[in-house]
Amino acid sequence: MYPLLACLLLWCSSASVQGNWISLLLLISGGMLLWSILEYVLHRFVFHLGSPIPFVQKILERLHLGHHADPRNPDRILVRPVYSLPLSAMLLGGLYSFTGTLFSAGGLMIGVWLGFLYYEIVHYRLHLIKGHRGLLGLQRRGHFYHHFLDSHCCFGVTSPLWDLVLGTYRRLD
Ligand SMILES: [Zn+2]
Ligand SMILES: [Zn+2]
Repeated sequence: MYPLLACLLLWCSSASVQGNWISLLLLISGGMLLWSILEYVLHRFVFHLGSPIPFVQKILERLHLGHHADPRNPDRILVRPVYSLPLSAMLLGGLYSFTGTLFSAGGLMIGVWLGFLYYEIVHYRLHLIKGHRGLLGLQRRGHFYHHFLDSHCCFGVTSPLWDLVLGTYRRLD
């Protein structure tokens, strides 16, 4: 679905894409960096907030808290399109207002989707496939620290970058 949406965005701004491939690559890279910030900020400041409003609390449980309660349940690891699509639409609208062109907003959005899909793959593998080494081992140690030792740290799943910058990085030795 997201690759199709990305193609649709590129098709809608095809006149701007012509001869602007380097700009497009830079925008996509910027979008991936933006995703890494969103991954950290949403996890730290939104998904772990409780809410006194039952409807909001139910959404937070569906989005993330239910995953903490049952981390190996495959139905609770991936983000459902009913949440990710409206969030994508809002973000695209915000990026369009900020940049003023569909080409720039679309390029950034494609980068965000790439980062998001990478996050979904990594998160799914961390919970359901054992025996990681290298990068996946590093990601797993950080994410399992967040799950099983202290949910107030290690909010980045794909990268510890913003945990390191903002002082919430811990490591399992
Ligand atoms: Zn998890
Ligand atoms: Zn969490």
